[in-house]
Amino acid sequence: MFISIDADKCMGHGRCYAVAPDLLSDDDEGFVAQRGQCWEIPEGLLGQAEEAADACPEGAIAVLETAPSNA
Ligand code: SF4
Repeated sequence: MFISIDADKCMGHGRCYAVAPDLLSDDDEGFVAQRGQCWEIPEGLLGQAEEAADACPEGAIAVLETAPSNA
């Protein structure tokens, strides 16, 4: 499973890294530091990835079965 964060949708609400501290972190401006990235979810962290996706009010985070072809 992969997690993808849409840089254009992220508005820096900061909810994602609050619920997924082992997967995500914040940058100096309060945005998720991993915005614009897509990567394979490490073992054991799928729950945090799904919580982060649910927590984001902008719908910027997607949990995917496969990596997008343009990633
Ligand atoms: S919760 Fe969504 S909008 Fe807020 S920092 Fe995370 S990805 Fe960005």
